[in-house]
Amino acid sequence: MQLAPPLGIFGGTFDPIHNGHIYPVLEGAEKANIKKVALMPCYIPSHKNPATASSEDRLKMVQLVCADYPLFYPESRDINRGKPTFSVDSLKEIREAMPTTPLCFFIGTDSLQNLFTWHKWPTLLSLCHFVVCERNGGSVKSLKGNSDNLLQLQALLNKRQIFNPIALHNSLAGHIYIANTQTLTVSSSKIRQQLTSNQSVDAFLPPKILDYIQQHKLYQPSADFC
Ligand code: ATP
Repeated sequence: MQLAPPLGIFGGTFDPIHNGHIYPVLEGAEKANIKKVALMPCYIPSHKNPATASSEDRLKMVQLVCADYPLFYPESRDINRGKPTFSVDSLKEIREAMPTTPLCFFIGTDSLQNLFTWHKWPTLLSLCHFVVCERNGGSVKSLKGNSDNLLQLQALLNKRQIFNPIALHNSLAGHIYIANTQTLTVSSSKIRQQLTSNQSVDAFLPPKILDYIQQHKLYQPSADFC
């Protein structure tokens, strides 16, 4: 089968989207020679507390980022469903729509470590590859935690890890590529927390996103800090 160029997919709550989402994926995509990445905000996060900002605001912020980077485009199918779903549901739909396109799901090292808690994770690996971006100084080798989890992760990597990203172009799914991207220590929760306590977040976000947050009064300071 003649394969199409690979498509990157980067899912998240994006509450709000920040530099730690944007730059590692730009770098990872360049290393893997992936020319398009869909940014896919989720409707309701499956692994954590509900989002603070509305789906509409989170999608709008993603669209603002996409307007500035030709690599990215907004993928709203998860939000449009309007009910809680899992990454695997969206990946199935995308796979059906693009049967000859290798799909590369971008995740941070924290998400790789908790992969085994994801809904139908083995099915996910039959639908897409994973491209892993470093997070919080955490290279995959330096991950800490429950030893069963680390052993399971090592076994998975022994089977699935590839070192030459060309492999992502030559098959539809099933590989894991650790992109060794530069670490950016930032998270949406830290940004929300700093905004609600009136601290600066300029270093963590594109200026357009900060403007949007201010114009739409998202993540407002709590009464204690006014
Ligand atoms: P929160 O702080 O609210 O938990 P978050 O900053 O982790 O949010 P998400 O939208 O939940 O952001 O993350 C989506 C994806 O982005 C996940 O795969 C996560 O690992 C990855 N990611 C988030 N921040 C970074 C970062 N600083 N570096 C690399 N990957 C990141």
